[in-house]
Amino acid sequence: MQKNIVIYPTSANPPTWGHADILNRAAKMFEKVYWTAANNPGKSLAFSLEERLSMMQDYVQYYKLTNVVIDHFEGATIRYAMEKEAGFILRGLRSTSDFHFELELATGNRGIDKEVETICMFAKPHFATLSSTLVRELAMLDEKITQYVLPSVAEKVYRGLKKRE
Ligand code: ADP
Repeated sequence: MQKNIVIYPTSANPPTWGHADILNRAAKMFEKVYWTAANNPGKSLAFSLEERLSMMQDYVQYYKLTNVVIDHFEGATIRYAMEKEAGFILRGLRSTSDFHFELELATGNRGIDKEVETICMFAKPHFATLSSTLVRELAMLDEKITQYVLPSVAEKVYRGLKKRE
């Protein structure tokens, strides 16, 4: 296991400035970040894997991050972390409502491998009420979302949702 490798799993459905800001901050702290599109079995995803990876790539290019690898996985996050020999799993915390969920996830992961630490970073205050759900709902109503996602991502969100109408 390598202490300087972190994995950052998100549904990326779509990825927002909130997710991207955490990514950018993590990229400054770790030698390597695997930003991975996760398939949460409890969530139905609005965008295909290809679409989600492409939106994630847009942020990596925007921030010019050279130590971030975009990837995806099936199955438990902790198994993926073990496969990549990562020392950490990174999650973002917006509020106390995220906290309970994250605590449960971290406990589940720890039950499988206690060597991999889950760490949380706090969302910047202006991103603390931003969610992928909010972005999707506004886009479905044809409202502006460019304050919440990268402009190129906004285009992909509208296009992806139209395809599914
Ligand atoms: P999940 O991976 O739980 O299906 P998300 O992809 O939305 O859902 O979230 C991935 C991680 O990013 C979680 O740790 C979540 O709390 C965090 N996150 C979500 N939105 C934001 C935001 N606006 N700012 C910071 N972190 C966020």
